[in-house]
Amino acid sequence: MHEMSIARAIYRQIELAEQEQNGMQPIACEVEVGPLSGIEPLCLQAAFADLMNEVGRMIGLTIQEIPLRGRCSDCHTESSIDGFQFNCSICGGPRMQVTSGDQIQLVSIDFL
Ligand SMILES: [Zn+2]
Repeated sequence: MHEMSIARAIYRQIELAEQEQNGMQPIACEVEVGPLSGIEPLCLQAAFADLMNEVGRMIGLTIQEIPLRGRCSDCHTESSIDGFQFNCSICGGPRMQVTSGDQIQLVSIDFL
């Protein structure tokens, strides 16, 4: 399952961060997920909960869904891309490069 491998990747990053924390325990983390990442937030939430059961830990996962943004190759304006309408909202040009929203990123980890 795709989301489980993502959950494991997140947990691996948490473990790496934990090694620098002098025995403090990770209690929560937050990830940003874009609409083009191919990740279903509910599935990821469930996969992460399963993984926590498996490793016997209780780390909360918060998923922030971030908007899709792009930069126009013609007028170089950055704007949000709504409803998967990939035309520039300023000049109408069709060449939008996605600048955010196609990735998943671990943005914070809380330790106690
Ligand atoms: Zn434009």
